[in-house]
Amino acid sequence: MNNLQFEINFAPQKENHFRETLDQGGFVLLIEHNSAGRDNDLEAAKERLRQLESAVLDIKSLNCALAITDAYSQQDSYRSLDYAMGLNMATRDRHIIYLSGRNTDLESGRELVQFAKAGNFPNLVAVTGDAATGEGVRDTRKRNFLESVHSLHLMNDGNFFQGCVMNPFQYTPYSLYPQYSKLVKKLNSGAKFIVTQAGYDMLKLQALRWYLGERGLYFPTIARLLLLTQEKLEGILDKRYPGIKISSDFRKILDKESQFSSNQFESAQWRRLELQAAGCRLLGYSGIQVMGVDSPAKARIAAERVAGALREFTSFEQWLEEYNAYLAKAEMAPLSPSFYMYDRILHRSYPETPPLMSEIGELKISRNEKFLYKLRKFFFAHSDTQSARNRHFWKVLLAGCRSCSQCRLPSTFYVCPEHCPKKLANGPCGGVKTNGDCELGNFECIHSYKMRLALWQKKMDKLEDVYIPPIDGI
Ligand code: SF4
Repeated sequence: MNNLQFEINFAPQKENHFRETLDQGGFVLLIEHNSAGRDNDLEAAKERLRQLESAVLDIKSLNCALAITDAYSQQDSYRSLDYAMGLNMATRDRHIIYLSGRNTDLESGRELVQFAKAGNFPNLVAVTGDAATGEGVRDTRKRNFLESVHSLHLMNDGNFFQGCVMNPFQYTPYSLYPQYSKLVKKLNSGAKFIVTQAGYDMLKLQALRWYLGERGLYFPTIARLLLLTQEKLEGILDKRYPGIKISSDFRKILDKESQFSSNQFESAQWRRLELQAAGCRLLGYSGIQVMGVDSPAKARIAAERVAGALREFTSFEQWLEEYNAYLAKAEMAPLSPSFYMYDRILHRSYPETPPLMSEIGELKISRNEKFLYKLRKFFFAHSDTQSARNRHFWKVLLAGCRSCSQCRLPSTFYVCPEHCPKKLANGPCGGVKTNGDCELGNFECIHSYKMRLALWQKKMDKLEDVYIPPIDGI
């Protein structure tokens, strides 16, 4: 096939089936499976996991494996690693295990990584973790969130094949670029493959591949796709899946699909999955991770459908024609106007010359914000080398200081990271709202604000280059 870009890592390491499949340019189908809720008996849940694993590994039409995640926003589930102990010891190198930073400090993160090593789980994905369902800013603040970049640093010592997550489905420059900067920071922190947030907009998936190619970041990328059910759709509309967006046009399509029968709705979702899977393959993705496939029978159907689609679509042009006909000009962006990083996305598979980057447009920064930045810089330019109590009164007055133990203002464009409900200093979480607001309230995500300042200061590189180490054990 032409124009496909396979990402190959050459470093010799211990045998690892998942990594080798990616290295050899194979296409993987990962069946996403949440760790069991604590209302289940752990041993019984592990037995069910073993059955699912054996059904998944029995599939011969594709490289099929499991992605064990922490339960999405669920408060009361077993740790993914405890649950994954149900997997066969000899085949653990086929699967990937998500390690969530929610309710985790540096020490427990370190223990978790040691546990993964002792348990023979070589493929980990570091995530910061979602806020718990129903919790607002105040309750979220009370929890510890170990940033995924810190977890990646912890994994660097363990000979892991570790991955990271990124959300390309953002639609303003100020919410999109910080996701990319954080991605580069994660790659610099040791991530060796990338899994995207779940989404439907193929333009955004292609933009990510173009960006990685343009930057020479040849990392295997896996697209997370969602096989919708009515229940999942309601969950997304209810905002129980932060970061997953559905446009009004797409909503109309889904309404139409659900108009007649649940069978018709289901078969439309399978066709969508087929088209997306084949498209991802042709855009250069190394695999897909599918949410919503929760039984051995469904896993077998998913593999059959995806394998069939990969055979059906062998060229980008053929796929694009079918995809456009299927979409019937529906707009997948949930915001209008929407920002896309490049021009003419989904017109060609991979540009021979670097694609033209879209203009960000007029810089959105007020006179007050500029003045405040200058004041903070005047007072706090060296605060990271001084006691945190130094000029405390001014820090409270000018930066809303929340009295942490190590001032990081000079590394964060003088925006205090403690204002993020998850206290993330290195970049945004994946839950940022469509308009750039925090997933937990109607205020701008601090990382969008930082990006506006970075752009004004012409220091965008700082957002990806400067790793801000953990403080206070998180
Ligand atoms: S401020 Fe940004 S990074 Fe922090 S929780 Fe809100 S959306 Fe996530």
